[in-house]
Parts: sequence; structure tokens; C-alpha cells
Amino acid sequence: MKYDYLGVGSGLFGSIFAYEANKRGKKVLVIDKRPNVGGNIYTENIDGINVHKYGAHIFHTSNKEVWDYINQFAEFNRYTNSPVARYKNELYNLPFNLNTFSKMFNLVTLQDIEKKLDEERKEGLAKLNGREPQNLEEQAISLVGTTVYEKLIKGYTEKQWGMSCKELPVSIIKRLPVRMVFDNNYFNNKYQGIPIGGYTQIIEKMLDGIEVKLNCDFFENRSELQNIAEKIVFTGSIDQYYDYKFGYLEYRSVRFETEELDVDNYQGNAVINYTDKEVPYTRVIEHKHFEQGKELGNEVTEGPSVGKTIISREYSDKWDSTKEPYYPINNERNNTLYEKYKALADKDSNIIFGGRLGQYKYYDMDKVIEEALKCVKNEIK
Ligand code: FAD
Repeated sequence: MKYDYLGVGSGLFGSIFAYEANKRGKKVLVIDKRPNVGGNIYTENIDGINVHKYGAHIFHTSNKEVWDYINQFAEFNRYTNSPVARYKNELYNLPFNLNTFSKMFNLVTLQDIEKKLDEERKEGLAKLNGREPQNLEEQAISLVGTTVYEKLIKGYTEKQWGMSCKELPVSIIKRLPVRMVFDNNYFNNKYQGIPIGGYTQIIEKMLDGIEVKLNCDFFENRSELQNIAEKIVFTGSIDQYYDYKFGYLEYRSVRFETEELDVDNYQGNAVINYTDKEVPYTRVIEHKHFEQGKELGNEVTEGPSVGKTIISREYSDKWDSTKEPYYPINNERNNTLYEKYKALADKDSNIIFGGRLGQYKYYDMDKVIEEALKCVKNEIK
């Protein structure tokens, strides 16, 4: 065989596996059907702004080992994710915290806010007449009351899933974290940040010295690739690998509309969520704020991005096989179907399925790093 491993996919999982295997003396070929490496974390520098081409990516973890690992490949800034929600012409801080509630209810003290939220919850629970919530709407109202639900949850969630909250299962929001402090930091993790200079450099460093073929779809070259290596590390869709023999796994897709504007600062924040149903997109991302946020408020910046900004509107989209599968829909039907594919994979010693599509799990980047490192450790003793 020509190679020890064929890596299908140059996203975070495939690239970490390739890097670690190469370091251990293995010969690896990595292919990707896209014209660029990096999978969904790929960033492209346009006019000095690192544009997150496949959706905004904020690195966050509480795992020091993972944080140290990724920091070998880039220097990270201390970006703190503090999204703002826009409901019609009202703006609220996220995640739900005292800033959000004091503005929503026009209240000042913690005690008054607690009292108001309790009243709202009680009203919600009274509507249930003692029975358990049967759908996402009932669950959300019982957790945070009608006002927060109507303004910040309903429209956004319905756009995200393309379904009414009355039809969505309770399981989607088991809990709704409510912070009774003035703190707009979205993530609870110890470490968070954005790599200065974008994510692509991380993948390029991992793949340095490894053979990479882009614009190469495994399925279009299957006969030639299937036996090119001792083992395949497959980070595409597991159901596609098995010719959908048990049926299709379902995903949600996202459509991005990206626009360059001749202003220095468009919305004053990297992320604004549009939570009413009338606006068709879910979020507007202003990419330069991930790396230049604070400077924009204080001083004139230098370089090609002065007087320019790039925004992306995100539209949640129904998935079909012509679109990118972004989010696995881990409901009962799909999880049962995935287990059938996994059982096939477990019997096949020539292939490893990894990452978000290979394992059909919504992994954040830190989890993908953990899983990839675990996989290499098991595989190459
Ligand atoms: P991918 O990045 O999907 O890589 C798989 C690669 O395989 C792709 O490059 C694809 O082209 C290639 N491929 C697939 N099929 C084939 C084939 N047949 N032949 C050849 N190549 C193939 N995580 C965070 O921690 N923070 C965030 O803020 C965050 N935001 C996100 C926003 C969005 C919109 C999305 C979709 C995800 C977000 N994530 C975030 C999750 C993050 O993207 C993933 O954890 C990570 O990118 C998964 O890496 P992966 O290698 O498993 O998959």
C-alpha cells in the first residue's frame, strides 16, 4: 500500500489525525472535496479581515490540555463572546442575565427582577394545569415565562429549526441558563478566544509536510482511493459512506450571504441575533470584531480594513443532499439510524469514522480535538 492512512476531510479532526500520525512516522494522504483546507473552521483574509466562511467560530474550552494543544499552532486573543439580541427595535444582552431582564422589564434591583421572573414562570406553569410540558413552547414558558420566550426564544428557534415551537420536542431545551448577575459573557469556560490571523493557519501548520489533494471527492474517486492506504480516516457523512443503505441521516443547513460595506463599523459587535420571525435571517456576523473589536471603539486603526467591513447574514436552511450538512439533528429517529451505521463501522477494521459528520454528533471544536487525540492514541501505540 502507498500510504498508512488516507484522511478523507481536512477539517479539524482529519488534520489533527494527520498531523499526529505524521509525527509518529506514518505516511498520510489527506483529501478534501472543497477547494480549501480546514473544513468549517476555514477563514479567508479579505481586505485584512479574517472572514469565517462557514460560520462564526469562537474557540472555548475548560480543558487546559486542549487549550495548550491548539495554542501551539496560533496565538489567541481574549475575545469574549457577548452576543446582542435584536427583537424588532429592541436590543438585549445575551446570555439571559440581569442586563437582559432589567431592560426587558424596566426594573432596577435583583429582588424586583427575581419577583417578576417568578410571576412570569408561575403564569406559565398555571397554563399547564399541573401536567408536564409537552413541547418546546410549554417548556420554555415554564422555565422563563412568556415575555422572554416571546421576545428572545420563539422567533429565533422557529427560524433555526424551520418548525413551530409547538411542534418541537421538549428535549431541545432541557434547561435555560438564567444568570442572576450582570455578566454578558456567553460561555462559562475558563478559556476562550480567536486565533489572531484566523483559523486557516492552524490547519496549514498541521498539514505542513503532508500530501494534500483538494477538490477531490472520495466518492468520485472511490475505486482508486479505497485501497490506497492501510486504513481510512473518514470525516465525511457516515451514511453516505455506506450508500445510505439504511436511509438518510438528517441535518440542518445554513446559507450565508456575505457583503462588504464601505464603513469602518457596521453594528458595533461581532454577533447580533435577530430573534423576531419577520426578519428572515437568524444572525448577522461582523467579522472584523472577532479580532479588532476593541480598537474600533477607541482609536483609528491602520491597514487595509480601515473604512471597510464584511458582514454575513446567516439563514437557517432545510437540508437536502445538494446542500452542506452543518448540524446533525440528534433526535430519536436519527440516533437510531446512526447506531445502525455505527454497528457496520465497528465491524470494519479498515476504517475509522471521526468528527462531526463521521460520528454524527454536534461537536464543538474543543470536543473534536479531544476526540481526535483520543483516536490517535488508541490507533497508533
Ligand atoms: P468539518 O469541519 O465538517 O470537516 C470535514 C471535512 O471533510 C470538510 O472539509 C469536507 O469538505 C470534507 N469532506 C466531507 N465529505 C467528503 C468527501 N466525500 N470527500 C472529500 N472530503 C470530504 N465550534 C466551536 O467550538 N465554536 C463555535 O463557535 C462554532 N461555531 C460553529 C458554527 C457553525 C455554522 C458550524 C456548522 C459549526 C460550528 N462549530 C463551532 C463546530 C465546528 O465547526 C466543528 O467542531 C469542527 O469544525 C468539526 O470539524 P470536523 O473535522 O469534524 O468537520
